[in-house]
Amino acid sequence: MKALITVLPGDGIGPEVCEAGIRVLEGIANKYDHHFEFSEQLIGGAAIDAVQDPFPTNTQASCAESDAILLGAVGGPKWSDPNASIRPEQGLLALRLALEVFANFRPVKIFPELASASPIKTTRLEGVDIMVVRELTGGIYFGDKTRSDDRASDLCIYHRYEIERIIRIAANLASKRRGRLCSIDKANVLETSRLWRDVTINTISEEFPTIELEHMLVDAAAMHLINRPAHFDVMVTENMFGDILTDEASMLAGSMGMLPSASLGDSTRGLYEPIHGSAPDIAGQGIANPCGMIASCALLLRHSLNLTEEAENIDNAIQDVIHSGGRTTDIAEPGQVALSTREMTDQIMDRLL
Ligand code: NAD
Repeated sequence: MKALITVLPGDGIGPEVCEAGIRVLEGIANKYDHHFEFSEQLIGGAAIDAVQDPFPTNTQASCAESDAILLGAVGGPKWSDPNASIRPEQGLLALRLALEVFANFRPVKIFPELASASPIKTTRLEGVDIMVVRELTGGIYFGDKTRSDDRASDLCIYHRYEIERIIRIAANLASKRRGRLCSIDKANVLETSRLWRDVTINTISEEFPTIELEHMLVDAAAMHLINRPAHFDVMVTENMFGDILTDEASMLAGSMGMLPSASLGDSTRGLYEPIHGSAPDIAGQGIANPCGMIASCALLLRHSLNLTEEAENIDNAIQDVIHSGGRTTDIAEPGQVALSTREMTDQIMDRLL
């Protein structure tokens, strides 16, 4: 199979983990006789520095003709002035809009060997296997904004069609898993949440009668994620709630560095990125955990290229390395010698079948 993949390393540890992802994808291409062409482009702070635009025209063109996009991370202290008119995050939001990837998937699985790396009690982590589905191109992040000296506003808008399509995707996923869908909103306060809840109830009762639907307020969901995480199967929620809850959920897995994500729309072209940010505190040291990025490459193979066996090969290799004690600094036991990003990637590549 031939595929064109745009790679957007971005800032901080973004380039370090992207390099790991490309090496693994090249390893897969060699083993299975595929031909993956990589087009490396600018985004975020690196793009602002080079061309004063966080989502340059060349990047847009490359993404538009690619089968999939692999993203490192954007942002960092260099570009963090809140009053700046151009910011790295604008590149990320523009990318998601341009690709029309309205559904963000974040699987949260626990490696039993890493349970002690999580701040949550090990007994609470037994049986945790959650898929968080976050609406990605609507809500408060994209609404009109106003600002004067002593007043600011961000408009939160949701349309019926935006809710229906994300609920359908989440319900379809739930039907292939344990059949349970938890919709998270703030319907006791927000009008957008009341529409969200109404549309969810109608869509599920009309189209997915066998799905067990539960509604939870976002504040309660934040508590239950820590208190009884094994309760959840598929969680679906709007953009900002999803942003916050998925970072919280990452702590169940022990480190931000472990978790992948996929963002998809109506076509197979998708955006794949680890859930972590640019981690300026460890950037340039070669110690970033590449597992979230490498697992994102597995999602890319599975969802955009329909290469299920290859994706499983990567997932199994990551599991095998963790099982046999390979650890980067973020997940190492006290006193354990940690692997560098490159060494961890080598170990994963050595285990590809
Ligand atoms: P972060 O995810 O970058 O880092 C949080 C903590 O987790 C840090 O201590 C970091 O060292 C650690 N960490 C993250 N990824 C790791 C990895 N792969 N291996 C080992 N440790 C890892 O979040 P932050 O510090 O809140 O944000 C830093 C910058 O990243 C900010 O500018 C923020 O806006 C940006 N950001 C970008 C994205 C994105 O590009 N999608 C997402 C979140 C944050």
